[in-house]
Order: sequence, then structure tokens, then C-alpha cells
Amino acid sequence: MDINSILENQIQTHDSTTGQQEMVAVRFRRRYRLCQVLTIIGVLFLLALGSINLISNARFLGILLLGCAFVGLINLYILKRSGNVERAATVLSGILCFLSISLLITGGKDNTGMLWIYPIMAINLFINRFWPAVVIFSFFTIASLLLLFTPLSFLLMTSYSLVEAIRFVLTMLALNVICLAALYSEEQAYRTIIQLHADDVRQMAFFDTLTGLPNRWNFKNNLQRLISRAKKDKNRIGLLYIDLDNFKQVNDQFGHEAGDRLLLEFSERLWEVIRPSDQLFKPNKDSLARLAGDEFVVILPDMKKPQDASKAAERILRVFDNGFDVDGVSHNVYASIGIAVYPDDAVEPATLLQHADAAMYDAKNNGRNCYRFFTKDIAMALQQRQKIEKGLRMALSESQFSLVYMPIFDCKDNAIVAVEALLRCQNEELKGIGPDDFIPVAESTGLIKEIDLWVIDNALNALTQLQSSCAFEGKMCINVSGVELNNENFPSQVKALLMKNNVSPERVELEITETAFVAGDMTCLETLKALNELGVSLALDDFGTGYTAFSQLIHYPANCLKIDRSFVNDLFSASKSRSKMVMIIQNLAKLYGLRVIAEGVETEAQLAYLKSLGCDWAQGYYLSCPLPWHELLNQITVNVKERE
Ligand code: C2E
Ligand code: MG
Ligand code: MG
Repeated sequence: MDINSILENQIQTHDSTTGQQEMVAVRFRRRYRLCQVLTIIGVLFLLALGSINLISNARFLGILLLGCAFVGLINLYILKRSGNVERAATVLSGILCFLSISLLITGGKDNTGMLWIYPIMAINLFINRFWPAVVIFSFFTIASLLLLFTPLSFLLMTSYSLVEAIRFVLTMLALNVICLAALYSEEQAYRTIIQLHADDVRQMAFFDTLTGLPNRWNFKNNLQRLISRAKKDKNRIGLLYIDLDNFKQVNDQFGHEAGDRLLLEFSERLWEVIRPSDQLFKPNKDSLARLAGDEFVVILPDMKKPQDASKAAERILRVFDNGFDVDGVSHNVYASIGIAVYPDDAVEPATLLQHADAAMYDAKNNGRNCYRFFTKDIAMALQQRQKIEKGLRMALSESQFSLVYMPIFDCKDNAIVAVEALLRCQNEELKGIGPDDFIPVAESTGLIKEIDLWVIDNALNALTQLQSSCAFEGKMCINVSGVELNNENFPSQVKALLMKNNVSPERVELEITETAFVAGDMTCLETLKALNELGVSLALDDFGTGYTAFSQLIHYPANCLKIDRSFVNDLFSASKSRSKMVMIIQNLAKLYGLRVIAEGVETEAQLAYLKSLGCDWAQGYYLSCPLPWHELLNQITVNVKERE
């Protein structure tokens, strides 16, 4: 067994944290080396001294010294084999004590034994921890006193004068007290460091380093504890799940330091607004926690009625009235709050948190900057989400996705100029659920990244087949999630898939829904630029449903606007503002030199009107429904032939 494996064994037995383990390991190594080196020095010294004594006919002392050297060698060997420092130190102490007493009894060569005892005892103390050293010191002092000043002195093989004896005892006392004091202070320093370390580790393990609030782990324990208490006292607990809106923009526009300061400031204000309610909720610092990023929770113990939680939520929302000031800058940040109540909404801590989270999402979907209680509808939506998530995971692992293709026509000559790939999922759990419903779940669970890559890969593969089997010269339009705009790796992943499928980028259009665009979001712009540099064209899907200020369009490297089908649907509606939207978007696109695709064309009249407006391309059930692969091949072949 080598020293490292011995060390590991020894250290694993300590119930301590990694940092503490490291310190214990350092101390262990030091003692191990000290024991090893001192034993080697001691053995060499004893061998030399023993041999000299043997040669100079001091046989008894010589054999004694060589015997000690021999025991020392065995100790060294056992130490190397077992790594047991404590045992080696005890054996070494035994040898050194024995040697010191022997030197005192025999007087050593030319009566110089006493002089050797001082360093030997000092070594003896230093290889031990404080308390064993005290024991050894006491034992040796008593033994020397007995030998020098009592009738036991008949055991001495030499004689000491009273002055010599007193001087020896006093020097020993002084020297050893100094050694013990040094040992004691070292031991104390070690303990303090270990304690400080333990405090640090505790702080890091249970508290958020930025805000000092309890972290997710700590919060779970607190919630569990409070729920157990509420169960006994038959009380209610309110759980507020807070998510800051627009926080990402602060990070992007002002840097992470500003973002951190905002979070810190918010955590302090949160405490201030919760605290005044102490008669109502009796909160303490354990009632708050930062779960992650911009997500906070507040536990309201001892609530009388569920509605009490709304008072706390309203106070929190008021913090954001008139902007949130940090370092003299007012940020347009606010909060969405979800509330779940124990035991009304859930009795298990994890479910309670999940329900508060679901209510928070409901608040986000309802215009943000508001709070929502967990309701039956949210519970059903949550169940549905969980069902969808399960189905998506299964579909991914069992390859249950497929694509259908919707032809896009040129308004001038009805040629199929592009094909939009649309995702379908055959999983049982997702029966009757379309991409409009499962894509948002895929986005919130992170599964979308895998799905998007699958779609791109398969759509590109389909494009190469269309090119080779029916001389298709149009584009493949692929929907990608807005989530990808924050994925720095996305452009390089697209590039790799283009190369893998040997597709030239100008034959590909990526559609990103307009709602995914956030004005001024730098990461989003960078990703768009990187995609544009690849040579693929970019379309803003469902255009008109988002909040893109038209003046912003100039900043996006977009090539195409896809008019949302609701506007095409409303072309002949009585509402002037809606019926004019298509025309407005068309004019806007012309102004910025962008191509326009009208989605959801369902009637001849709509198509005729779009043509009269100068719309470039169109798609919709009137022209063609989404088609499975073989029908698409037929339709394109017919379309190409018609035009020949
Ligand atoms: P989208 O990109 O705007 O796709 C057009 C949607 O409108 C398709 O629905 C299509 O079937 C439907 N549609 C087209 N023409 C008409 C029409 O004339 N009348 C009516 N009523 N509907 C029409 P689908 O396939 O259910 O897709 C819905 C949305 O799901 C898509 O909207 C897109 O945002 C998303 N999506 C679809 N496939 C994918 C995909 O592969 N990846 C990603 N990330 N999202 C996808
Ligand atoms: Mg689309
Ligand atoms: Mg669309």
C-alpha cells in the first residue's frame, strides 16, 4: 500500500468537508514525514552511539542503544506498511523515553548522558500532539525526580551531585514547558482554522454567496421544517415564488456586475417589505431564499387565510413601482409572483414549490408584473405540461418525431419556391397535441435544443433529396426556437449540419418567431449575425404578433417577414386596424428591402388581394396543406412540370 492510498483510507473515515479533509491530510502528511525523518535520524544516531559504546567496552549501554536502533528500524518499516502515524509516534515516544531514562541511569559515555536527554525529550514531545506530549513529559519528570531525589537512586549506575540533579530537572522543566506551549499554540491554531473553514463551508453550502440568503438546499430544509410545524399547529403556510422580469436585459446592457448589484439590492428590499408584516407572518431570514439566478422565494408561516399572501405579494410588486434604482440607474425590471398555500394547494414541500412555480408562470403569461394564486386550471395546465414533457422525452429517445412539409408559392407564377418543414410527434402521450403546444414545453425544459438540431438535420437531408430527385431549386424553411438566440453554439451547430448534409447555405431559411426577439439583447443580435454570416437567410415568423418596433428592423439581419396568419385571416375584417396590417407590413418590408411571405392563405380572395398588394410568396391551406414526404415529392414534380 502506498502513502496516498493509506492517506485516502484514513481521510475517508473523517466525517468532514473536502476543505477540512485537505487540512487534515496536510497535517497527517506533516506528522508522517516528521515521524519518518526523526526515526531515521534517531536510528542512525543510536547505531553510531551504540557502536562507539560497544567498541569502547561500555557494553551494556552499547547493546541498549543498538537495541533501541533495532526497534526504531522495525517501527520505520511498520510505519511505511501501515501508514499508522499514531502508533509509530507512540512506539517512537516509547523508545525515546526508554533511551532518556537509560541515559539518566547509566550516565552515558563520560557522564554526558544528561546533555543528550534535552534534545531527545524535545523531539519526543514534538512528534506527539499536545495531550500525549503532556503525559510523556509528566511521566519522564516523575521518573527523573524519583531516580534523582528518592531512595530509588540506588538504581543509578552513576552518581550526580545535588546541584547537577537540580539543574537537570529545572532545565528539563523549562525546556519542556516551552515545547508544550509551542505545541499547544499550534494545536489551537489548527483547531481555529478548521473551525473557520467549517463555518465558511457551512456558509457556502447553505447560503447564497451573493445575497447571503438561504440557498435552494437550505430553503428546502426550512420549508420542510415549517411544514412539519404547521401540520402540528394546523396552520397555513404561503409560498411566494418570485421571478424578476427583464433581468436578463440588465445583465446584457449593463454587465453582470450591475446585475449582481440589482439582485443584492432586491434581496435587501425584499427583506424590508416582508419584515414589517411580522405581526401577520412572523417571518425571519429563513423565510427568504434565492433559488437561482433571478428566482427568489418567500415563505409566510402562520398565515390565517390564503388571501394574506396577496398582501405580501402586493408589497413586493410595489418595490418596482417607478423603476428599480441601482447605483443611480433606473432599471425597467419588475416581478412575476406565483403563490401556493399549504395545505390548500399541496402538502409536500416539493409539490408546493412546483405549484408556486406554475402559478408564477401563469403570472408571466398574464402580462407579468403581477401575482397569481395556484388554481385548478393551473393544476390542469401543469399536468398537461408534465404529460407533454414525458411524451417529448420518450419521443426523443425512441425517435418518434417526423416532419411534414408545407410548400410555399411564388405569388407571381405559383411556382413552389420554398418548403417549410413542420414538426410532428407520434408519441401516444402527445396524441392530438401539435407543435404550438409542445414546442413551448420543449423550450422551458431545454429539450428544444436537441429537437431543433434533429429538425435541421432531417430538413436538410430532405432538401438534398428534393434537389436530386425532382430538381428542386427552392429553399428549405426551418423553424428554430427563439431559445437558440441565446445559445452561442447554435451557429456552429448549424454550420456543422450544413456541411454534414452538403447543403449550400443560401438554400436554407431559418424562421424565428418575432416574439423571441428582445430589443437591445446583445446575445440575440450576435447569434443572428453569426447565422447570417453563414449565408443562411433569416425570416421573422408570425410577424406582427411581437413587439418589434418597426425602427428596430434595420438592426436585425433579417431577410424576410412572414406575416402572421391571423392578419391574413382578418384581411376582410370589419376592424380597419386589423385589415390594414397586411398592407402596413408589406409596405414596411418594401422600405427595408425585405421579402414578404403571407401565412395562412385559406381563400382565393385572400390570395388575389395579397398578389395585388405585391406580396412575394404565400402559403396556406388554399394552396397546399402540410404534406407527408411522398406527397410533397409528387406535388413538387407536378409543379415543376406545369411550369415547363
Ligand atoms: P409557424 O412556423 O407559423 O407554422 C405555420 C403553422 O400554421 C403550421 O402549424 C401550419 O400547419 C399552420 N398553417 C399554415 N397554413 C395554414 C392555414 O392556411 N390555416 C391554418 N389554420 N393553419 C395554417 P403547425 O405545424 O401546427 O406549427 C405551429 C407552430 O409550431 C409553427 O408556426 C412553429 O412556430 C412551430 N413549429 C412547427 N414546427 C417546428 C419545428 O420544427 N421547430 C420549431 N422550433 N418550431 C416549430
Ligand atoms: Mg414557421
Ligand atoms: Mg408562422
